[in-house]
Amino acid sequence: MPSERQKLRTSRRLARVKAQRRRSIVFVIAAAPAVVMSCLVLFRSKAEADTEKADLPLPKPYDPVVVRTKPDETRHLMECIEKLRDFQRRLPAPGPHDWLANHPEPGQTFKEYLYCDPVTARGTRRIIYVQPLGEFDEAEKKILRLTADFMSRYFNLSVVIRTTLPLKNVPPWAKRYRSGLNTTQIRTTWVLTHVLKPRLPDDAAVYIAFTSADLWPGEGWNFVFGQASLNERVGVWSLWRQGDPSESEKEFRRVLFRTLKIATHETGHMFSMQHCTAYLCNMCGCNSREEADRNPLHVCCECMAKICHATGADPLARYKRLKEFCDENGLATQGQIYGIFAAALEMDAPAAVSSVE
Ligand SMILES: [Zn+2]
Ligand SMILES: [Zn+2]
Repeated sequence: MPSERQKLRTSRRLARVKAQRRRSIVFVIAAAPAVVMSCLVLFRSKAEADTEKADLPLPKPYDPVVVRTKPDETRHLMECIEKLRDFQRRLPAPGPHDWLANHPEPGQTFKEYLYCDPVTARGTRRIIYVQPLGEFDEAEKKILRLTADFMSRYFNLSVVIRTTLPLKNVPPWAKRYRSGLNTTQIRTTWVLTHVLKPRLPDDAAVYIAFTSADLWPGEGWNFVFGQASLNERVGVWSLWRQGDPSESEKEFRRVLFRTLKIATHETGHMFSMQHCTAYLCNMCGCNSREEADRNPLHVCCECMAKICHATGADPLARYKRLKEFCDENGLATQGQIYGIFAAALEMDAPAAVSSVE
């Protein structure tokens, strides 16, 4: 039985989590010294409205399931967490420039996530819409297609890539030129509020913009890799700081790996997942390129359960699908990690779990 002190600590922690949710937090990844350049974005023309009808479905959605809450579903996820816990690496103490040293956060266990009444893909909202913004070369388009494929397997949802919207005529308040970078940055809040929210489809689990432009969220920030709303189903991520996928095959794989991380991280936020502070995990915050590269592509066991709860994915089937993708696309080490997680779940050993409080 938990002591009074433990009960008090738990209730304070839950109150903190709920307070965070009430604030409609918008999470942001990364900031660091930045610099400069040109101009882009805008739309809302008639021609654009016409082309928007021509959504481009992926050729093969990955076994999207009709989701229903089963009585023993949460218990099954708790058992999976315990089977995987020993394979997780604890998050080390942050360095002075790391995310947690500059943005202290409480973290979020699976149980706390359930208490937050999270945004999910249950019911009729079963599609991830990806909205390309701006221009992309062939290599970048390939990155986008592969990322959409990976997201489909990762979230157990169909993914639809919408017709590209041009980046031009961005209102002055939503762009700024950074001379040191020789580029124009686009304000994330404009993308979320003025581009995505008015176009959110009725069957969208989430609607995420993908752009080749650099992003910044507003005063006090130099840049962000991406940004997402915890409760409005919209988000945006950028390719601008991921490298040049046309440079070589090796660089292509590196850009792909980075892009898979940011796309799934931001989408995780859209399913009300907060930053992970317990393990080395793709849902950890990051304050720099170096920290982003240090974080893994896979999520920890607690965050895995959140994804499966939000999307109805089966943990074992999900790991097998992700391993397949990694093996097919030159991400052998990551494929091995998913293989280890899958093998751990296939073990028969009973896991010691407590019921959800
Ligand atoms: Zn984040
Ligand atoms: Zn995690």
